[in-house]
Amino acid sequence: MANPNQEVKYTKLFINNEFVNSVSGKTFETLNPSTEKKIADIAEGDKADVDLAVAAAKKAFERKSEWRNLDSTARAALLNKLADLIARDIDIISNLEALDTGKPIDHAKMQVGWAVNVFRSVASYADKIFGRTVPSDGALFSYTRKEPVGVVGLITPWNYPILLVAMKVGPALAAGCTIIHKPAEQTPLTALYVAALSKEAGFPAGVLNVIPGYGPTAGAAITSHADVRKVGFTGSTEVGKLIMEAAAKSNLKKVSLELGGKSPFVVFDDVNLDEVIPVAVEGVFTNAGQICIAPSRTFVQESIYDEFVKKVVAYAKNRKLGSQFTSGVQQGPQVDKDTFDKVLTYIEYGKQDGAKLELGGKRWGTEGYFIEPTIFSNVTDNMRIARDEIFGPVMSILKFKTLEEVIDRANNTEYGLSSTVFTKNIEQAFAFANQVEAGNVKVNSGGMGNNLPFGGYKQSGIGREGGDYGVELYLETKAVSIKM
Ligand code: NAD
Repeated sequence: MANPNQEVKYTKLFINNEFVNSVSGKTFETLNPSTEKKIADIAEGDKADVDLAVAAAKKAFERKSEWRNLDSTARAALLNKLADLIARDIDIISNLEALDTGKPIDHAKMQVGWAVNVFRSVASYADKIFGRTVPSDGALFSYTRKEPVGVVGLITPWNYPILLVAMKVGPALAAGCTIIHKPAEQTPLTALYVAALSKEAGFPAGVLNVIPGYGPTAGAAITSHADVRKVGFTGSTEVGKLIMEAAAKSNLKKVSLELGGKSPFVVFDDVNLDEVIPVAVEGVFTNAGQICIAPSRTFVQESIYDEFVKKVVAYAKNRKLGSQFTSGVQQGPQVDKDTFDKVLTYIEYGKQDGAKLELGGKRWGTEGYFIEPTIFSNVTDNMRIARDEIFGPVMSILKFKTLEEVIDRANNTEYGLSSTVFTKNIEQAFAFANQVEAGNVKVNSGGMGNNLPFGGYKQSGIGREGGDYGVELYLETKAVSIKM
């Protein structure tokens, strides 16, 4: 049941299966972005706390530890148990997620459901981590073993907090690693709740540790720690580079990075616009535009450009904005003041650079970080709104003539996370799918299948999450040769 007054039970660091205060005793506030009011004070982790958490995780990963010697089917069972507990508490977790992020409660609930599915899916891989036998010359018998990387640091952003807990913590647990997770400072509540459930599920102490705190302090302490063997990160490209640098300078820890995007959404003139427009609008404005795969460069073929602009504006202007617990709301606020200010700055850039403001462009309401759904037409490739990731409810519509031209322009970016194309012409669809530089391509829909690899080309990331790809990120491969 939706409850704006949901009790916040877990506000401390989670180390060695206990909730504890930070060594410094410091706390920070997490705010409700719809009201700008405090939800709770959260213990603020720092280097000293990360050291304690890493020591706990290291102990839990010792050669003779309970976790290291757990049968893989028992590991799968623990993950399924955790999924069951998240499903049991779906209402509480959805309320916490909605409070912390501002996203509409029904969206939050759907995402908690996705997180349950991810935990179940990775559980099904936990007991299927196989090596291979490899034919060798001479009298050698050779095979490979897959082994957990060790203590891993997982750092996640605020836009899909519970889903990203599942996407990172799930595969790392399935692989048999031990974990220090730092959730985003804006949205720590659901990660802490899942930590409590992991203890209830029966995960041994030290396997999952959660340290809320800020990036340059708690986050940097994880990425530079000599006993952390790998960092799995989701966040901005800018911070991704800092993480790689810290990883290289400390102990050459492995990194996988899921970073930003500026994804193309290409509409050819042979489509039914009434089918395309809801997908374009949902893609850009869902989660208040705070989506890494948001199709924020909308390329429309010349002959249908004016009709598209007219129809998309008519459709988007009916979106219902409001606070997360108001029934029927489609768009909540931006997550915090910084994000809100950044989006409004980009809207000003759009105007300054000569784009035509077709819809929105301002703050919505008088409290909270709401921004109207905003649409610009007459956008050209070099405008800042067409080049940079805005991470807000802003659609930029560009005009193109030919397939060749639009592929070049779609690829004219340092990002390469996602892409979408709408056309009835199968040759055009294949040409785009083959030549676009992006980690995924959606043809005639906004959806992606389950268990597919997810990740970016170019500066959108390193590595692929999803299904067995996600588990593989937390494994080493050992080659063994035995003289026969
Ligand atoms: P961010 O990079 O500012 O922060 C992400 C996380 O990194 C937070 O937990 C933050 O505290 C931490 N961090 C910040 N500085 C750090 C440092 N120096 N060392 C270690 N950790 C540090 O990103 P954000 O604003 O929270 O999220 C938005 C970004 O995330 C967007 O660029 C978006 O595209 C990206 N994102 C990507 C994906 C994907 O799967 N590719 C998914 C969601 C979000």
